[in-house]
Amino acid sequence: MTGITLARLLREKGHEVLVLEAESRIGGLCRSRTDHGFTFDTGGSHIIFSRDKEVLEFMHGVLGSNRDTRSRNTKILYRNILVKYPFENGLAALPKEDLYFCINEFIRTYVKAEKGEIPPPKNFREWIFATFGRGIAELYMIPYNEKIWNYPAHLMSAHWMEGRVPRPPVEDVIKSAIGIETEGYTHQSIFSYPVEGGIEALVTSIADGLEDAIFTGFPVRSIVFRDGHWEVSDGTRTISGDRVISTIPLQHLVTCLHDIPDEVKNAVQALRYNSVACIQMGIRGIVPDISWLYIPDPNQGLANRISFPSNFSSHVAPGNHAGILAEITYNEGDAVSRMTDEELINHTVRSLGEMGFITPDQVVHTAVDRQKFAYVVYDLGYLENIRIIREYFKSRGITLEGRFSRFEYLNMDGCIRNAMECAKGWE
Ligand SMILES: Cc1cc2nc3c(=O)[nH]c(=O)nc-3n(C[C@H](O)[C@H](O)[C@H](O)COP(=O)(O)OP(=O)(O)OC[C@H]3O[C@@H](n4cnc5c(N)ncnc54)[C@H](O)[C@@H]3O)c2cc1C
Repeated sequence: MTGITLARLLREKGHEVLVLEAESRIGGLCRSRTDHGFTFDTGGSHIIFSRDKEVLEFMHGVLGSNRDTRSRNTKILYRNILVKYPFENGLAALPKEDLYFCINEFIRTYVKAEKGEIPPPKNFREWIFATFGRGIAELYMIPYNEKIWNYPAHLMSAHWMEGRVPRPPVEDVIKSAIGIETEGYTHQSIFSYPVEGGIEALVTSIADGLEDAIFTGFPVRSIVFRDGHWEVSDGTRTISGDRVISTIPLQHLVTCLHDIPDEVKNAVQALRYNSVACIQMGIRGIVPDISWLYIPDPNQGLANRISFPSNFSSHVAPGNHAGILAEITYNEGDAVSRMTDEELINHTVRSLGEMGFITPDQVVHTAVDRQKFAYVVYDLGYLENIRIIREYFKSRGITLEGRFSRFEYLNMDGCIRNAMECAKGWE
């Protein structure tokens, strides 16, 4: 997404550009695949939304008529209750004792914060408690976050929450507790999705007309600055250029350069990331009218989220059929990483059966995709490590953009914004 967008914007400014992509197809995390009439996003379920008006217009513009708009109907599975998302906007659905725990602790925390009695949070766990109070923290936020990040919240940094998730307005939380409808994260309450082709259609639409500027099957292995030019090679072919922008994971980039100081190598090695397994199921029959569902409780299966892509577009499953996509985060060497595709599928079908969404005989198609670099994990060493890395690459004249070269929690809109800002800096 980032590389293709940059290529498009720079070419519009008259630059000669070349995108070097290791895989046989462009798209990275935004790829999709269609098998037996079911289309799934292979890097986890994607939707198009943004607070950034210019970026949103860009995404809508390139897709043209290949875009469907939906209202978000997202839930959280709490015990066996479907709670409206975000959790603080769905409190009325909780059992009374849990509801009291959440609202009482939220208000106590709110009052303390208003009096200035809450010290600045030192880590993500403290931030959760300081923002939502103990009830919402213990019943939902901590279990959900520890499941998706596969890492203890007290070892994560809180800096990335600034501006991303504000404290919910106290009036809204009280209203939601007594059953008056409220909405949270409103920039996402209406979203869109390609009618045909899954999220990959967004990348291919951006790439439209750029075909001659894209080399696929070109895994960059070395980057050398020689005689005033960059030479970028996959081991057999060498491309030369005036400038290099990296949108590949930093962990790959450092292996392409010689004589990197140990301090920088160590900083890159210390960066944490998560991988994701995407379990795709095509089923006969219908699915509930839910966009996607968060599953915080580890006892309700390994997936942190299941999505229902056939509720985003009616063209991604054959008639009378529906698609379900489960996401399980993991790290190399852990128990999930050792599970075979078959084990992941069996586990997911069983958990979805226990939740009452499907019966095993409905499943007519299954597939698994794994993405090694899926999520940036902001651990406590992150800010110092990324500072060292960015200073170094700046000094070498290599620009870092996109999710895994900036090494930031960037959604597609953030990647496109990155590309827009980067292109602005070019004459
Ligand atoms: C589970 C999940 C759900 C998401 N949902 C959403 C959503 O709903 N909405 C949203 O806006 N965003 C979502 N995102 C985020 C979105 O996927 C990313 O923001 C976006 O895809 C990142 O694009 P990128 O180009 O920066 O990186 P990537 O997609 O990682 O692309 C990097 C590219 O570099 C290539 N590469 C790697 N090494 C080399 C090498 N040595 N040589 C050449 N090429 C190389 C890779 O093959 C890849 O194509 C989601 C992400 C995940 C993981």
